[in-house]
Amino acid sequence: MSLDIQFDLRVEGEALADPFLDRYELELMFEGARQSIGAGLRRKFDGIVCEEHTEAPRFTISGVYDNAIEEMDIQYHVDTCCQRFLLRVMQILNRRA
Ligand SMILES: [Zn+2]
Repeated sequence: MSLDIQFDLRVEGEALADPFLDRYELELMFEGARQSIGAGLRRKFDGIVCEEHTEAPRFTISGVYDNAIEEMDIQYHVDTCCQRFLLRVMQILNRRA
């Protein structure tokens, strides 16, 4: 069973006159983020399901690249079948690589 991971990556704000990353480079960065975050989550959550409901966690990764400060802010949203499994998922998520 493959992990359910949705990505919502976007750009905010006006591009600077001479942006550090152009549109194409931004897409490359987004694609890189999708691949590395996806791979990291699949590695951490391989075979991990709720003991009670046998459901896997679902992830939504939101990333906003702010043109004004040229930085990317990434947030993880986790959906689980129950609160107890959510706690376990958060522990695994916060574990280092
Ligand atoms: Zn559960």
